[in-house]
Amino acid sequence: MNLAVFSTKPYDKEYFEKFKNEYDIKISYYEANLKPNTAKLTKDFDAVCVFVNDVLNKKTVETIAKKGVRLIALRCAGFNNVDLNACKENNIKVVRVPAYSPEAVAEHAMALILTLNRKTHKAYNRVREGNFSLTNLIGFNLYKKVVGVVGTGKIGAAFCRIAKGFGCEVLAYDINKNEELEKNGVKYVSLEELFNKSDVISLHCPLNEKTKHIIDKSSIEKMKKGVLLVNTSRGALVNTKDVITGLKSKKIAFLGIDVYEQEENLFFKDLSESIIKDDLLLRLNSFPNVLITSHQAFFTKEAMTEITTTTLNNIQEFMNDEKLTNEVS
Ligand code: NAD
Repeated sequence: MNLAVFSTKPYDKEYFEKFKNEYDIKISYYEANLKPNTAKLTKDFDAVCVFVNDVLNKKTVETIAKKGVRLIALRCAGFNNVDLNACKENNIKVVRVPAYSPEAVAEHAMALILTLNRKTHKAYNRVREGNFSLTNLIGFNLYKKVVGVVGTGKIGAAFCRIAKGFGCEVLAYDINKNEELEKNGVKYVSLEELFNKSDVISLHCPLNEKTKHIIDKSSIEKMKKGVLLVNTSRGALVNTKDVITGLKSKKIAFLGIDVYEQEENLFFKDLSESIIKDDLLLRLNSFPNVLITSHQAFFTKEAMTEITTTTLNNIQEFMNDEKLTNEVS
Protein backbone atom coordinates (compact mmCIF):
# COMPACT_ATOMS: atom_id res chain seq x y z
CA MET A 1 0.00 0.00 0.00
CA ASN A 2 1.44 3.35 -1.06
CA LEU A 3 0.12 6.28 0.97
CA ALA A 4 0.59 10.01 0.24
CA VAL A 5 0.14 12.21 3.32
CA PHE A 6 -0.83 15.77 2.38
CA SER A 7 -0.63 19.00 4.44
CA THR A 8 2.17 17.37 6.41
CA LYS A 9 3.55 19.30 9.35
CA PRO A 10 6.65 18.10 11.25
CA TYR A 11 4.46 16.72 14.06
CA ASP A 12 2.34 14.69 11.58
CA LYS A 13 5.47 13.08 10.16
CA GLU A 14 6.85 12.43 13.66
CA TYR A 15 3.72 10.49 14.67
CA PHE A 16 3.39 8.53 11.40
CA GLU A 17 7.07 7.58 11.58
CA LYS A 18 6.61 6.45 15.19
CA PHE A 19 3.78 4.01 14.40
CA LYS A 20 4.25 3.06 10.72
CA ASN A 21 6.48 0.01 11.35
CA GLU A 22 3.51 -1.82 12.81
CA TYR A 23 1.80 -1.61 9.39
CA ASP A 24 2.62 -2.69 5.85
CA ILE A 25 2.23 0.83 4.45
CA LYS A 26 4.80 2.85 2.48
CA ILE A 27 4.37 6.54 3.27
CA SER A 28 5.37 9.66 1.27
CA TYR A 29 4.90 13.09 2.80
CA TYR A 30 3.84 16.30 1.06
CA GLU A 31 3.71 19.70 2.75
CA ALA A 32 1.28 20.92 0.08
CA ASN A 33 -2.47 20.79 0.52
CA LEU A 34 -4.31 18.33 -1.68
CA LYS A 35 -6.39 20.41 -4.09
CA PRO A 36 -7.09 20.39 -7.86
CA ASN A 37 -3.65 21.67 -8.87
CA THR A 38 -1.69 19.30 -6.58
CA ALA A 39 -3.86 16.24 -7.29
CA LYS A 40 -1.50 15.07 -10.04
CA LEU A 41 1.08 14.30 -7.32
CA THR A 42 -1.00 11.23 -6.41
CA LYS A 43 0.21 9.14 -9.36
CA ASP A 44 1.23 5.65 -8.12
CA PHE A 45 -0.51 6.06 -4.74
CA ASP A 46 -3.31 3.77 -3.55
CA ALA A 47 -4.43 6.09 -0.77
CA VAL A 48 -4.19 9.71 0.33
CA CYS A 49 -4.29 11.01 3.89
CA VAL A 50 -5.69 14.54 4.29
CA PHE A 51 -6.61 17.10 6.97
CA VAL A 52 -9.21 19.84 7.53
CA ASN A 53 -8.02 22.35 4.93
CA ASP A 54 -7.40 19.99 1.99
CA VAL A 55 -9.85 20.51 -0.87
CA LEU A 56 -11.42 17.22 -1.95
CA ASN A 57 -13.89 18.69 -4.42
CA LYS A 58 -15.17 16.98 -7.58
CA LYS A 59 -12.15 18.06 -9.61
CA THR A 60 -9.60 16.77 -7.09
CA VAL A 61 -11.51 13.52 -6.61
CA GLU A 62 -11.75 12.89 -10.37
CA THR A 63 -8.03 13.56 -10.83
CA ILE A 64 -6.86 11.34 -7.97
CA ALA A 65 -9.20 8.57 -9.15
CA LYS A 66 -7.59 8.72 -12.62
CA LYS A 67 -4.17 8.47 -10.95
CA GLY A 68 -5.26 5.26 -9.20
CA VAL A 69 -6.20 6.40 -5.68
CA ARG A 70 -8.88 4.19 -4.09
CA LEU A 71 -9.01 5.50 -0.53
CA ILE A 72 -9.17 8.92 1.17
CA ALA A 73 -8.16 8.69 4.83
CA LEU A 74 -9.13 11.82 6.75
CA ARG A 75 -7.00 12.35 9.84
CA CYS A 76 -9.81 14.35 11.45
CA ALA A 77 -13.47 13.88 12.34
CA GLY A 78 -15.12 16.40 10.00
CA PHE A 79 -15.61 15.61 6.31
CA ASN A 80 -17.25 18.84 5.06
CA ASN A 81 -14.24 19.32 2.72
CA VAL A 82 -14.90 16.08 0.79
CA ASP A 83 -17.35 15.70 -2.12
CA LEU A 84 -18.78 12.34 -1.10
CA ASN A 85 -20.90 11.99 -4.26
CA ALA A 86 -17.81 12.43 -6.43
CA CYS A 87 -16.03 9.79 -4.31
CA LYS A 88 -18.91 7.35 -4.83
CA GLU A 89 -19.02 8.00 -8.58
CA ASN A 90 -15.27 7.44 -8.82
CA ASN A 91 -15.26 4.35 -6.58
CA ILE A 92 -13.15 5.94 -3.85
CA LYS A 93 -13.80 5.00 -0.22
CA VAL A 94 -13.56 7.61 2.55
CA VAL A 95 -12.56 6.90 6.16
CA ARG A 96 -12.07 9.25 9.12
CA VAL A 97 -11.12 9.47 12.80
CA PRO A 98 -14.50 10.02 14.49
CA ALA A 99 -13.18 10.85 17.97
CA TYR A 100 -9.64 11.32 19.15
CA SER A 101 -9.60 13.03 22.51
CA PRO A 102 -12.64 14.95 23.74
CA GLU A 103 -10.71 15.81 26.90
CA ALA A 104 -7.97 17.52 24.85
CA VAL A 105 -10.47 20.05 23.46
CA ALA A 106 -12.42 20.43 26.73
CA GLU A 107 -9.21 21.04 28.71
CA HIS A 108 -8.09 23.66 26.16
CA ALA A 109 -11.44 25.46 26.56
CA MET A 110 -10.80 25.61 30.31
CA ALA A 111 -7.21 26.76 29.68
CA LEU A 112 -8.58 29.70 27.63
CA ILE A 113 -11.02 30.56 30.43
CA LEU A 114 -8.36 30.44 33.15
CA THR A 115 -5.85 32.44 31.11
CA LEU A 116 -8.37 35.17 30.22
CA ASN A 117 -9.69 35.37 33.76
CA ARG A 118 -6.47 35.13 35.82
CA LYS A 119 -4.30 36.81 33.12
CA THR A 120 -1.43 34.35 33.52
CA HIS A 121 -0.16 35.27 30.03
CA LYS A 122 0.24 38.90 31.15
CA ALA A 123 1.70 37.98 34.53
CA TYR A 124 4.28 35.74 32.84
CA ASN A 125 5.56 38.60 30.67
CA ARG A 126 5.45 41.15 33.49
CA VAL A 127 7.45 39.07 35.95
CA ARG A 128 10.07 38.20 33.30
CA GLU A 129 10.57 41.94 32.80
CA GLY A 130 10.93 42.59 36.52
CA ASN A 131 7.43 44.05 36.88
CA PHE A 132 5.89 42.52 40.01
CA SER A 133 2.85 44.83 40.13
CA LEU A 134 -0.64 43.30 40.42
CA THR A 135 -2.43 46.29 38.91
CA ASN A 136 -5.07 45.18 36.36
CA LEU A 137 -4.40 41.50 36.98
CA ILE A 138 -7.51 40.96 39.11
CA GLY A 139 -9.68 37.98 38.14
CA PHE A 140 -12.81 36.29 39.53
CA ASN A 141 -13.46 32.95 41.25
CA LEU A 142 -14.96 30.31 38.98
CA TYR A 143 -16.36 28.61 42.08
CA LYS A 144 -20.18 29.03 42.13
CA LYS A 145 -20.22 30.92 38.83
CA VAL A 146 -22.79 29.88 36.22
CA VAL A 147 -21.22 28.16 33.22
CA GLY A 148 -23.36 27.63 30.10
CA VAL A 149 -22.41 24.78 27.75
CA VAL A 150 -23.90 24.72 24.24
CA GLY A 151 -23.65 21.14 22.90
CA THR A 152 -23.08 18.30 25.35
CA GLY A 153 -21.70 15.60 23.06
CA LYS A 154 -18.30 14.03 23.72
CA ILE A 155 -16.39 17.32 24.16
CA GLY A 156 -19.21 19.28 25.82
CA ALA A 157 -19.74 16.46 28.35
CA ALA A 158 -16.02 16.43 29.17
CA PHE A 159 -16.16 20.21 29.60
CA CYS A 160 -19.22 19.93 31.91
CA ARG A 161 -17.29 17.50 34.15
CA ILE A 162 -14.34 19.92 34.32
CA ALA A 163 -16.60 22.89 35.15
CA LYS A 164 -18.36 20.80 37.83
CA GLY A 165 -14.93 20.02 39.26
CA PHE A 166 -14.37 23.76 39.72
CA GLY A 167 -17.61 24.00 41.71
CA CYS A 168 -19.51 25.84 38.96
CA GLU A 169 -23.25 25.68 38.42
CA VAL A 170 -23.50 24.14 34.94
CA LEU A 171 -26.38 24.97 32.58
CA ALA A 172 -26.55 23.16 29.26
CA TYR A 173 -28.36 23.36 25.95
CA ASP A 174 -28.46 20.53 23.44
CA ILE A 175 -31.05 19.07 21.08
CA ASN A 176 -30.33 15.70 22.79
CA LYS A 177 -30.01 15.50 26.58
CA ASN A 178 -27.29 13.45 28.27
CA GLU A 179 -28.91 11.75 31.29
CA GLU A 180 -25.57 10.92 32.86
CA LEU A 181 -24.73 14.63 33.01
CA GLU A 182 -28.16 15.43 34.47
CA LYS A 183 -27.54 12.88 37.24
CA ASN A 184 -24.29 14.71 37.96
CA GLY A 185 -26.08 18.02 38.43
CA VAL A 186 -25.94 19.57 34.96
CA LYS A 187 -29.22 21.39 34.29
CA TYR A 188 -30.63 21.54 30.76
CA VAL A 189 -32.31 24.85 29.95
CA SER A 190 -33.45 26.73 26.86
CA LEU A 191 -30.78 28.52 24.85
CA GLU A 192 -32.36 31.81 25.90
CA GLU A 193 -32.10 30.97 29.62
CA LEU A 194 -28.51 29.82 29.13
CA PHE A 195 -27.62 33.16 27.50
CA ASN A 196 -29.50 35.11 30.22
CA LYS A 197 -27.91 33.42 33.22
CA SER A 198 -24.37 32.37 32.31
CA ASP A 199 -21.21 34.12 33.50
CA VAL A 200 -19.18 31.91 31.16
CA ILE A 201 -20.40 30.39 27.87
CA SER A 202 -18.53 27.62 26.07
CA LEU A 203 -19.55 26.37 22.60
CA HIS A 204 -19.30 22.64 21.81
CA CYS A 205 -21.99 22.02 19.17
CA PRO A 206 -21.16 21.16 15.53
CA LEU A 207 -21.45 23.69 12.73
CA ASN A 208 -24.56 23.22 10.62
CA GLU A 209 -27.30 25.40 9.13
CA LYS A 210 -29.03 25.60 12.56
CA THR A 211 -25.92 26.56 14.53
CA LYS A 212 -24.22 28.94 12.06
CA HIS A 213 -23.84 32.31 13.84
CA ILE A 214 -25.59 30.97 16.93
CA ILE A 215 -23.66 33.80 18.56
CA ASP A 216 -24.80 37.01 16.88
CA LYS A 217 -26.22 40.43 17.73
CA SER A 218 -29.50 39.03 19.08
CA SER A 219 -27.95 36.29 21.24
CA ILE A 220 -25.32 38.71 22.58
CA GLU A 221 -28.14 41.07 23.62
CA LYS A 222 -29.55 38.27 25.81
CA MET A 223 -26.24 37.69 27.60
CA LYS A 224 -25.17 39.02 30.99
CA LYS A 225 -22.99 42.12 30.89
CA GLY A 226 -19.41 40.98 31.44
CA VAL A 227 -19.82 37.49 30.02
CA LEU A 228 -16.76 35.36 29.18
CA LEU A 229 -17.31 33.61 25.81
CA VAL A 230 -15.25 30.67 24.56
CA ASN A 231 -15.38 28.94 21.16
CA THR A 232 -13.29 25.82 20.56
CA SER A 233 -15.79 24.26 18.16
CA ARG A 234 -16.06 25.88 14.71
CA GLY A 235 -15.43 29.50 13.76
CA ALA A 236 -18.71 30.09 11.95
CA LEU A 237 -20.72 29.46 15.14
CA VAL A 238 -19.81 33.06 15.89
CA ASN A 239 -20.59 36.19 13.88
CA THR A 240 -17.22 37.89 14.34
CA LYS A 241 -18.46 41.42 13.53
CA ASP A 242 -21.24 41.16 16.14
CA VAL A 243 -18.78 39.85 18.73
CA ILE A 244 -16.46 42.81 18.04
CA THR A 245 -19.43 45.14 18.66
CA GLY A 246 -20.12 43.22 21.90
CA LEU A 247 -16.49 43.62 22.98
CA LYS A 248 -16.52 47.36 22.20
CA SER A 249 -19.68 47.87 24.30
CA LYS A 250 -18.11 45.75 27.11
CA LYS A 251 -21.10 43.40 27.05
CA ILE A 252 -18.55 40.68 26.31
CA ALA A 253 -15.77 41.11 28.87
CA PHE A 254 -13.60 38.25 27.62
CA LEU A 255 -13.37 36.26 24.41
CA GLY A 256 -11.35 33.08 23.91
CA ILE A 257 -11.33 31.46 20.47
CA ASP A 258 -9.46 28.47 19.08
CA VAL A 259 -11.40 28.65 15.81
CA TYR A 260 -12.25 31.53 13.51
CA GLU A 261 -14.67 31.71 10.59
CA GLN A 262 -11.96 32.79 8.12
CA GLU A 263 -9.18 30.65 9.60
CA GLU A 264 -8.55 28.66 6.40
CA ASN A 265 -5.83 30.95 5.02
CA LEU A 266 -4.24 31.74 8.39
CA PHE A 267 -4.22 28.91 10.88
CA PHE A 268 -1.45 26.27 10.94
CA LYS A 269 0.87 28.66 9.03
CA ASP A 270 3.78 30.82 10.19
CA LEU A 271 2.83 34.25 8.81
CA SER A 272 5.08 36.23 11.14
CA GLU A 273 6.91 37.81 8.17
CA SER A 274 3.76 38.38 6.09
CA ILE A 275 1.26 41.20 5.83
CA ILE A 276 -1.96 39.84 7.30
CA LYS A 277 -4.88 41.17 5.31
CA ASP A 278 -7.67 39.92 7.53
CA ASP A 279 -8.79 43.12 9.28
CA LEU A 280 -11.37 41.36 11.45
CA LEU A 281 -8.75 39.07 12.95
CA LEU A 282 -6.39 41.99 13.49
CA ARG A 283 -9.19 43.95 15.21
CA LEU A 284 -9.87 40.98 17.48
CA ASN A 285 -6.16 40.71 18.24
CA SER A 286 -6.07 44.36 19.30
CA PHE A 287 -8.36 43.81 22.31
CA PRO A 288 -6.56 43.22 25.62
CA ASN A 289 -9.31 40.81 26.70
CA VAL A 290 -9.27 38.52 23.64
CA LEU A 291 -7.20 35.36 23.46
CA ILE A 292 -6.79 33.54 20.14
CA THR A 293 -5.16 30.16 19.57
CA SER A 294 -4.91 28.69 16.09
CA HIS A 295 -7.01 25.52 16.18
CA GLN A 296 -4.75 23.76 18.65
CA ALA A 297 -7.37 22.50 21.12
CA PHE A 298 -7.01 18.93 19.81
CA PHE A 299 -3.22 19.06 19.91
CA THR A 300 -2.07 16.72 22.66
CA LYS A 301 0.20 13.67 22.56
CA GLU A 302 -2.78 11.45 23.33
CA ALA A 303 -4.91 12.90 20.52
CA MET A 304 -2.04 12.71 17.98
CA THR A 305 -1.47 9.06 18.94
CA GLU A 306 -5.18 8.29 18.50
CA ILE A 307 -5.38 10.17 15.19
CA THR A 308 -2.32 8.40 13.76
CA THR A 309 -3.13 4.86 14.90
CA THR A 310 -6.81 5.11 13.91
CA THR A 311 -5.79 6.43 10.46
CA LEU A 312 -3.30 3.60 9.96
CA ASN A 313 -5.85 1.01 11.20
CA ASN A 314 -8.44 2.47 8.79
CA ILE A 315 -5.99 2.03 5.90
CA GLN A 316 -5.01 -1.47 7.05
CA GLU A 317 -8.69 -2.53 7.09
CA PHE A 318 -9.06 -1.28 3.53
CA MET A 319 -5.92 -3.18 2.45
CA ASN A 320 -7.21 -6.38 4.05
CA ASP A 321 -10.62 -5.97 2.41
CA GLU A 322 -12.23 -5.88 5.86
CA LYS A 323 -15.31 -3.98 6.95
CA LEU A 324 -14.34 -0.29 7.26
CA THR A 325 -15.12 0.63 10.88
CA ASN A 326 -14.84 4.37 10.28
CA GLU A 327 -16.18 4.68 6.75
CA VAL A 328 -17.94 7.91 5.77
CA SER A 329 -20.71 7.05 3.38
P1 NAD B 1 -20.39 15.27 19.22
O1 NAD B 1 -21.05 14.86 17.96
O2 NAD B 1 -20.01 14.21 20.21
O3 NAD B 1 -21.33 16.32 20.01
C1 NAD B 1 -22.01 17.37 19.40
C2 NAD B 1 -23.22 17.70 20.26
O4 NAD B 1 -23.84 18.86 19.73
C3 NAD B 1 -24.27 16.57 20.27
O5 NAD B 1 -24.66 16.27 21.59
C4 NAD B 1 -25.42 17.16 19.45
O6 NAD B 1 -26.71 16.71 19.90
C5 NAD B 1 -25.23 18.64 19.76
N1 NAD B 1 -25.93 19.49 18.82
C6 NAD B 1 -26.19 19.26 17.49
N2 NAD B 1 -26.91 20.29 16.99
C7 NAD B 1 -27.09 21.17 18.00
C8 NAD B 1 -27.78 22.40 18.11
N3 NAD B 1 -28.42 22.92 17.06
N4 NAD B 1 -27.76 23.03 19.30
C9 NAD B 1 -27.13 22.49 20.37
N5 NAD B 1 -26.49 21.31 20.35
C10 NAD B 1 -26.48 20.66 19.17
O7 NAD B 1 -19.14 16.13 18.81
P2 NAD B 1 -17.83 16.44 19.68
O8 NAD B 1 -16.82 15.37 19.44
O9 NAD B 1 -18.25 16.76 21.07
O10 NAD B 1 -17.29 17.74 18.93
C11 NAD B 1 -17.99 18.97 19.00
C12 NAD B 1 -17.37 19.93 18.02
O11 NAD B 1 -16.05 20.27 18.44
C13 NAD B 1 -17.16 19.37 16.60
O12 NAD B 1 -18.34 19.51 15.83
C14 NAD B 1 -16.03 20.19 16.08
O13 NAD B 1 -16.60 21.28 15.39
C15 NAD B 1 -15.32 20.69 17.31
N6 NAD B 1 -13.92 20.22 17.42
C16 NAD B 1 -12.93 21.13 17.58
C17 NAD B 1 -11.60 20.71 17.71
C18 NAD B 1 -10.46 21.69 17.90
O14 NAD B 1 -9.29 21.30 17.84
N7 NAD B 1 -10.73 22.96 18.16
C19 NAD B 1 -11.30 19.35 17.68
C20 NAD B 1 -12.35 18.44 17.54
C21 NAD B 1 -13.65 18.88 17.40
